[in-house]
Amino acid sequence: MNYVSTRGRAPTLPFSGVLLAGLASDGGLYVPETWPQLTANDFAALEGKSYAEVALAVMRPFVGESVSPKAFEHMVTDVYGKFGHPAVAPLRQTGPNDWLMELFHGPTLAFKDVALQLLGRLFDDVLKRENRRITIVGATSGDTGSAAIEGCRGRDAMDVFILYPHGRVSDVQRRQMTTVADANVHCLAVEGTFDDCQALVKSLFNDVEARAKLNLSAVNSINWARVLAQIVYYVTAAIALGATQTKTLRGMRQRRLAFVVPTGNFGDIYAGYAAHRMGLPVEKLVIATNRNDILTRFFKGGEYRMAGVEPTISPSMDIQISSNFERLLFELEERDGAVISQFMDDLGTRKAFAVKADRLKAAKLLFGAGRADEGETLAVMRAVYAESGMQVDPHSAVGLHVARMMRRSGVLPAEVPVVTLATAHPAKFPDAVEKATGQRPALPARLADLLDRKERFTVLPNDFGAIRAHIEKHARPV
Ligand SMILES: *Cc1c(COP(=O)(O)O)cnc(C)c1O
Repeated sequence: MNYVSTRGRAPTLPFSGVLLAGLASDGGLYVPETWPQLTANDFAALEGKSYAEVALAVMRPFVGESVSPKAFEHMVTDVYGKFGHPAVAPLRQTGPNDWLMELFHGPTLAFKDVALQLLGRLFDDVLKRENRRITIVGATSGDTGSAAIEGCRGRDAMDVFILYPHGRVSDVQRRQMTTVADANVHCLAVEGTFDDCQALVKSLFNDVEARAKLNLSAVNSINWARVLAQIVYYVTAAIALGATQTKTLRGMRQRRLAFVVPTGNFGDIYAGYAAHRMGLPVEKLVIATNRNDILTRFFKGGEYRMAGVEPTISPSMDIQISSNFERLLFELEERDGAVISQFMDDLGTRKAFAVKADRLKAAKLLFGAGRADEGETLAVMRAVYAESGMQVDPHSAVGLHVARMMRRSGVLPAEVPVVTLATAHPAKFPDAVEKATGQRPALPARLADLLDRKERFTVLPNDFGAIRAHIEKHARPV
């Protein structure tokens, strides 16, 4: 399996190349050259299988020769055997034909673990075979940093440095990073804001000398391997709810699911699109945004226009633009890289671009979009708690609000099963949950001692020279 860039001017690469490169050299994102197909028989053969077994069947064709079948099987079994729930992504019923898919049973309690746990092992495997070591550097406002650290900890082939704003992340979020004892993990508390941290990381990546010297790499959400790992749970949900083709007395029938996905960078929902392209019967993919609603606005009129970021109680979806959306645009524009390059140039110069009416119409056959403001998010958290005693985190609540709106308006009729993705554990966002429900959510037992574990971090000034020197001193690139 080879991969092509959405902007059409970068070399095609195998899976291992795409994994290490992240972004393509022409600024585009890598997508598979063709979509592997799973037939009705393939889906039928997956019924009753474990998450790891489904994961192997779904991901194998994308990986190709880049990882040996044995090594791949070993890492997938290992990763998904260690989640806090044997189903990995269990479904919880919330209404007559409504389910929440809990994606937060990984080590850091957010759905990013599903992909980043595997990503760390993939990096390790590919790098070891090439006898290389890399340095991973990232900035975090909370969520991604801990998931990246947990994915990379103890892996010989990489050192990981995470910059976060000193004194500006929650206790739980900081401790999820700083209590990891492995020697290849480095938490840098920067005396500045999250934007300062991001700017420092960007400067480092733009520093040609440092970049080469350190073998810099990133694990951000545009990495294809992250998307890949997320395709799996769309398939397991469909199998669990009988949404793959089944024989009945009256012939074949298909029960198509709708998925509602709390969205920021469009990575998670794009994985649902990939599942659909592989042959999974999907009725609708619904984008759910908070007040940062560039995608919801796009689906109204076909114009994609940047706006400032507004802080919300669902901070992991506070984005100005949605990077992975470029991958869907590429498909909508019939894989014409020149059109995508023009769009991205326009976005740079005019802060906007627009697609033609027929493209928007085609997108709307599969996609829906809705948004929730802060009041609506809190209201649905309160309502769910009153109905069933269940606490949901503010990101998942954005999804639940949109799902309920679409039920009410008839966009999602009662007979269509709706699966809303729960992207974080309520205990990850205790303040918002307590505000909505009056109860402070408890950490799961395996993290109950988090607040007592020993912390390890280095405070550094908001100064590029100091950050660079620190990383160069502690990294071990080859
Ligand atoms: C990252 C994140 C999201 C957004 O996911 P995308 O793939 O960027 O759309 C939603 N919820 C939580 C809790 C997250 O951490």
